[in-house]
Amino acid sequence: MAVTGRKEKEGKNMNLLYKSTRNAEKTVTASEAILKGLAEDGGLFVPESVPKLDVSMQELKSMTYQETAYAVMKQFLTDFTEEELKHCINSAYDEKFDTEVIAPLVKVGDTYHLELFHGATIAFKDMALSILPHLLTTAAKKNNVKNEIVILAATSGDTGKAALAGFADVPGTKIIVFYPKGGVSRVQELQMVTQKGDNTSVVAIHGNFDNAQSGVKAMFEDKALEKELAEAGYQFSSANSINIGRLVPQVVYYVYAYAKLLENEEITDGEKINVTVPTGNFGNILAAYYAKQMGVPIGKLICASNENKVLFDFFQTGVYDRNREFILTSSPSMDILISSNLERLIYTIAGQDAEKNAALMAQLKANGSYEITPDMREKLEDFVGGYATEEETKETIHNTYARTGYVMDPHTAVAAHVCAQYRDDSKDETKCLVVSTASPYKFIHSVMTAIDDKYADADEFELIDELCSISGMPVPHAIEEIRNADIRHTTECDAEAMKDTVKTILGV
Ligand SMILES: *Cc1c(COP(=O)(O)O)cnc(C)c1O
Repeated sequence: MAVTGRKEKEGKNMNLLYKSTRNAEKTVTASEAILKGLAEDGGLFVPESVPKLDVSMQELKSMTYQETAYAVMKQFLTDFTEEELKHCINSAYDEKFDTEVIAPLVKVGDTYHLELFHGATIAFKDMALSILPHLLTTAAKKNNVKNEIVILAATSGDTGKAALAGFADVPGTKIIVFYPKGGVSRVQELQMVTQKGDNTSVVAIHGNFDNAQSGVKAMFEDKALEKELAEAGYQFSSANSINIGRLVPQVVYYVYAYAKLLENEEITDGEKINVTVPTGNFGNILAAYYAKQMGVPIGKLICASNENKVLFDFFQTGVYDRNREFILTSSPSMDILISSNLERLIYTIAGQDAEKNAALMAQLKANGSYEITPDMREKLEDFVGGYATEEETKETIHNTYARTGYVMDPHTAVAAHVCAQYRDDSKDETKCLVVSTASPYKFIHSVMTAIDDKYADADEFELIDELCSISGMPVPHAIEEIRNADIRHTTECDAEAMKDTVKTILGV
């Protein structure tokens, strides 16, 4: 008996558990947290503590992306076996990326761009959504889930395609994506409706993104539907950015970037670097914060917003206030007024106090705003907020191209502007990493008109060829693919008919 007891205890110590940001009592394993996505109390899953790296930078600097991913992810996902985790990693980071290094570093002027857009859909969502399906199906197996997993997603453009590409032909899963008809760019729509894979479905709804989002949410909360699906051998799951299975893979590229800067002798071992992240839902920058806590020498975490600058105001004043006009910008993936992943930071700076965090989130829900205490503000010293106006974003694309020949997308340009502004204002000369989140080909119209107004009325596909000729950057496969691809998805429905459409697709 005594021996068994000790064994159990050792097992537990090695196993990192996860808690909800709104409940101090319950714990779940990593695989359970990935399966659930969101905690039942509406909170987000967080590790009880952020684990430390157990390999040195000297060892990391010669590792491949896949090896680095294993070194980082095994510290978080402790109930996955080595074989399971390596299988997930190798299935995700393969030829779907157009470069073996997966996340290249490019020196532009006096900053380093970490390019996270070399995956199947040419935006950074691929970094996590290419591995999430594998983590999810592995988690299902480990927890004896026999049902087929049905991913439901509403998208305003980028997430839907990245999720489709990630889940296409993954055994044991189906994916259904809803997008607003007329509410996405031509490239984005073509990317979705030409999606291959027998388990993929794409539906255009007659309505806007909010209608799509509400319809999906209603299905997740529909107990009768859940029962009907279970009888047919299905269960719903979510691929959105609050899933811990999306956050953990994002920590990897910060460790990798530091190690590669070291390998290339751009920095010395232990030298601090600042990191600037173009931010919407606060997932990407939170991963950088976790990387810092794991032991990566990161100085400032610079949070870059577009004109929807809720986060800038929050870092400035300690007040989070979503009561403001929603502005449509040229960096649409950052047009967000509720940054869901910020809750994980609030919980941390509240001293992991679930009750305190839950009270603030209740205020956010009721009034659209909350204010943190001076104590909590002190713990935000690692963070700097900044923002770029539309004009500044355009200028950054234009001037960087004129000076260096490097072309960046509007999301990345927001970060590049904020990074330069911070350097000027603070006189902080720490070397800076700018996180580059989308290929300029994906936002071709905004990019080309920033370079030269003469392109304002040109056709998107003409501009693609023009960008290729002025930048020498090869046209990504993701773009070539949609030029001539067959349209495979033509289903449309009214917003009220989403549930019936799902049932028809699943044959229940
Ligand atoms: C999603 C997205 C972002 C914002 O990332 P968050 O993790 O939501 O902060 C920035 N740029 C691009 C291109 C994106 O697709």
